[in-house]
Amino acid sequence: MALAIEDITALFESRGAQLYGSEAVSQLDHALQCAQLAEHWGAQPELVIASLLHDLGHLLVDQPHEIDNDTDDVHQFIPVPFLRGVFSDAVIEPIRLHVDAKRYLCATEAGYWEHLSPASKHSLELQGGPFDADAALAFIARPHATEAVLLRRWDDLAKTPGLPTPGLAHYVRLMRDCSL
Ligand code: FE
Ligand code: FE
Repeated sequence: MALAIEDITALFESRGAQLYGSEAVSQLDHALQCAQLAEHWGAQPELVIASLLHDLGHLLVDQPHEIDNDTDDVHQFIPVPFLRGVFSDAVIEPIRLHVDAKRYLCATEAGYWEHLSPASKHSLELQGGPFDADAALAFIARPHATEAVLLRRWDDLAKTPGLPTPGLAHYVRLMRDCSL
């Protein structure tokens, strides 16, 4: 069931032009911008790859998610079984936790919710809304939660139309270096 790196590349090439929800960038642009932000920040290669692949769940299902979709698409969980055996938990866990990281930041950081895009506020409600204080504490104690929070901040920023980034080939090399 594991995806080869060639399969991941093919998914970006065949479906990456889909829009990122109702944002003004494509899925591929969003992934590349998120990975670039991680790289510029000096993140470990595993977290750069997690940033690249955090929304792979959107590419693994047929329909692009839409803002008027009123069910949680659970896209953070969809890639997990496909990435087991390909990458370590340092890649997989920040992907799996990136939605909970938003719920955490909404609970713990004044002003965070206000700065979310309308699409992200909408999906937050479907995803269960902000954590309460106990859930926030339990979340941040989990392994790789801190990295998921970093990823989340880049995720929120990776929506700039037309921003130049390295091409996918740059990150394919990094995926090979990080694969098990
Ligand atoms: Fe996401
Ligand atoms: Fe995203």
